[in-house]
Amino acid sequence: MEKVHLDGYNKFKAEFFGNNKELFDKLAKGQNPHTMVITCSDSRVQPATILSTNPGDIFVAENIGNAVPPYDTMVGDSTQAALEYAVVALKIQHIIILAHSSCGACAHLYHEPVEGEPHLKHVDKWLELLQPAKDASLLEMYADKNKNISEVTEKNNLKLSLNRLMTYPYIREAMDNGQMKIHGWWYNVGTAKVEVYDQATKTFRKK
Ligand SMILES: [Zn+2]
Repeated sequence: MEKVHLDGYNKFKAEFFGNNKELFDKLAKGQNPHTMVITCSDSRVQPATILSTNPGDIFVAENIGNAVPPYDTMVGDSTQAALEYAVVALKIQHIIILAHSSCGACAHLYHEPVEGEPHLKHVDKWLELLQPAKDASLLEMYADKNKNISEVTEKNNLKLSLNRLMTYPYIREAMDNGQMKIHGWWYNVGTAKVEVYDQATKTFRKK
């Protein structure tokens, strides 16, 4: 075990665990999270920190670029499995797609391969899911070149993931019967500000 990991674990056990015995006794019996968060694997985006949640509060699925595969993409994907379990078995009440600024996945969509650099074949394959966000962003940039292409792509990718959630029959059903709501957040890594997507007006609102 490396010191950096052991020191962190010992601190957690002595402090957070030590001060929250009741919570951990309850968690030992099962989980009942109210929210699922689908976010990017990026190390700067930690949903439990950003939402100030405790263990047991949020059910998290992380992947490169906070992507949601379309429902009919039956490839045994872990995000799809996590969605199904969260909505159908755990009956969570909210799904948040948590996107973020300076997302490497969105930037990689525009990357031109350079000779000699490592070939990221799994990343490239996964990022095919984000291609519609790139297409929409190029159109948007064509109309207004003053926009920031990173932010435009991150926000279009967020909207793509939200739209794809609606292709899942059990998500539609849970929303129609009032069990669940879906939300889209774009989080600024440098300022901690968020912009929330308003699906009625199709605009982002600063919070
Ligand atoms: Zn990212």
